[in-house]
Amino acid sequence: MTSVRVVVVGAGVIGFSTAVCIAEALPSCSVTLLSEKFSPDTTSDGAAGIMFAGEFPDIPLERQRLWFKDSFDHLLAIAQSQHAPEAGVMLSSGFKRAGGQVHQRKVDNLQELSNSYDIIVNCSGLGSKLLVGDSQVYPVRGQVLKVEAPWLQHFIRDGDGKTYIYPGIHGATIGGTRQEGDWRLEVDEGDTKSILERCSRLEPSISKAKVLSEWVGLRPSRRNLRLEREVVQLQGRQVPVVHNYGHGGWGVTLAWGTALDAMSLVRQCLREKPAQAKL
Ligand SMILES: Cc1cc2nc3c(=O)[nH]c(=O)nc-3n(C[C@H](O)[C@H](O)[C@H](O)COP(=O)(O)OP(=O)(O)OC[C@H]3O[C@@H](n4cnc5c(N)ncnc54)[C@H](O)[C@@H]3O)c2cc1C
Repeated sequence: MTSVRVVVVGAGVIGFSTAVCIAEALPSCSVTLLSEKFSPDTTSDGAAGIMFAGEFPDIPLERQRLWFKDSFDHLLAIAQSQHAPEAGVMLSSGFKRAGGQVHQRKVDNLQELSNSYDIIVNCSGLGSKLLVGDSQVYPVRGQVLKVEAPWLQHFIRDGDGKTYIYPGIHGATIGGTRQEGDWRLEVDEGDTKSILERCSRLEPSISKAKVLSEWVGLRPSRRNLRLEREVVQLQGRQVPVVHNYGHGGWGVTLAWGTALDAMSLVRQCLREKPAQAKL
């Protein structure tokens, strides 16, 4: 039987998680992941990795709870396994082990993909603004510093979540900023100063810590994250497209749960539209 050609666009935590779920659960699909950027150059690489989710106002709470629970269970299982230190690496090697193909490529529009693939899965984060013309997706800029402070044993987060100290394996991540609509990827010296001042107020020993690096990421934000399927007319063909983007500041937290949901939508495409998918 010829396999159904599925392409996933995006190599952040959402794209890779979604690609792994599809490759593992739907053996009738051959899965290719295309992306302009890969680790360590995605937003997902700089996230502190804390499991914490806000609420999307118009998505049923039950669905959001399930995304969180599925992700929590998945990450807990990894954390308790011997593979915990290389969990991020496992995501891409797990995809390749499941038979997935990975190629570096910027996709300018979905038409480019319609002749080579039967189902398109869009996990391009902020890139969806141009790729699918979504004016609802916007950046929330976040700047963080990595500092050497091995004496820190506990994380500290202030009430509104703007100032935090998260000790990790390779230094502590301290932050941060939440600047809506700000596209700047350069480090801002004013932000650096403000982060050091705010964090030193929370934990005075931070003022003695050596700054190892500074990093800026743009959270791919949307009033409601977009996890749905549609059928798009591309080059005269009806092509199923599954969208999974707009996770804002909660992408690491919700990645696995939303990936499972996206995989179910691909499964529905296979069941309901066999003619379109060239089965
Ligand atoms: C400072 C900071 C701290 C954070 N901390 C946390 C945290 O503690 N916990 C948490 O849950 N979340 C956190 N987040 C949020 C989290 O990082 C994001 O929600 C998550 O990374 C989004 O993942 P993504 O895969 O959608 O996007 P990205 O990681 O941005 O990936 C998008 C991918 O799509 C590709 N792409 C885009 N357009 C195209 C195109 N046209 N053609 C080909 N490829 C394309 C890109 O190259 C990239 O590979 C934080 C974010 C920031 C900035």
